[in-house]
Amino acid sequence: MSKGVDGIIMKAWRAENYTLTVTSTEPVTDKYVRIGFTGDGLLAEHPVHPTQWIRLWFDDGTGRERQRGYSLVHQDPADDTFAIEFALHYGPASKWAENAKPGDVIEASLMAKGVGSSNFAIPEPTPSELLIFGDTASLPAINSILDAIGGTPAKVWLEWQYESDRTLPVHAGAATEVTWLQRVDDGRLMREQAEKLTPASGAFAWVACDGRTTRAIVKTLRATHGLDKGSIKSQAYWK
Ligand SMILES: Cc1cc2nc3c(=O)[nH]c(=O)nc-3n(C[C@H](O)[C@H](O)[C@H](O)COP(=O)(O)OP(=O)(O)OC[C@H]3O[C@@H](n4cnc5c(N)ncnc54)[C@H](O)[C@@H]3O)c2cc1C
Repeated sequence: MSKGVDGIIMKAWRAENYTLTVTSTEPVTDKYVRIGFTGDGLLAEHPVHPTQWIRLWFDDGTGRERQRGYSLVHQDPADDTFAIEFALHYGPASKWAENAKPGDVIEASLMAKGVGSSNFAIPEPTPSELLIFGDTASLPAINSILDAIGGTPAKVWLEWQYESDRTLPVHAGAATEVTWLQRVDDGRLMREQAEKLTPASGAFAWVACDGRTTRAIVKTLRATHGLDKGSIKSQAYWK
């Protein structure tokens, strides 16, 4: 099966490839499934860090494979196991996740370093507060950030589409404020929330929504609130 242009780019960037095997599947809600994997040596070569992610290749039903980004959770390097939490919508990745069963295999690729690699670290010195914008696709990554920041104050805005989204576990600490906002008008409430903010001096923002919402929020953080480039980490998680 062809990986198309994405495959050519990944090869040129010397992506490393692994064959993952499904070990378990567990519905978290009607629109969310957690799938356990063994990693084919992946975790031995790629140290665990907050928001760690990989690219998985999915059959799109037309003889082409499509790559999609997914975050790793519950990583256990000693056992070379981890899980991935899939928000279910439409598309090849969602369809695969809905039907996955133990023993299924799937190909994963990782850029070792540089553009397109997974390399986020919580900034040093620790920011005065974290401002986090995301949704159910970026919730696994957000939870890994919340796990890593200990008692650092964090404000988290999460966009929901399905009623059950708001029951998903958020790893909120004592100093974390979590607000769920419904997705309306392609992310309007999230954009408005970004405008309304008053960031503390020394705040750091992490933004991972759909592409347009991500770009709009980053623009507001920079133009309205004066956050500099180094105080924002953003990535479009879907389009
Ligand atoms: C670094 C990174 C890490 C990610 N980690 C995760 C993760 O851990 N869990 C996770 O669920 N997703 C994660 N995503 C997002 C995931 O890759 C996308 O949602 C992807 O588009 C899903 O592929 P698909 O084949 O199901 O749908 P596509 O073929 O890409 O899209 C089909 C349709 O579904 C819609 N759609 C796709 N994704 C979403 C969404 N999230 N919300 C609403 N509508 C959507 C599209 O707009 C389109 O109409 C991550 C993305 C990145 C870049």
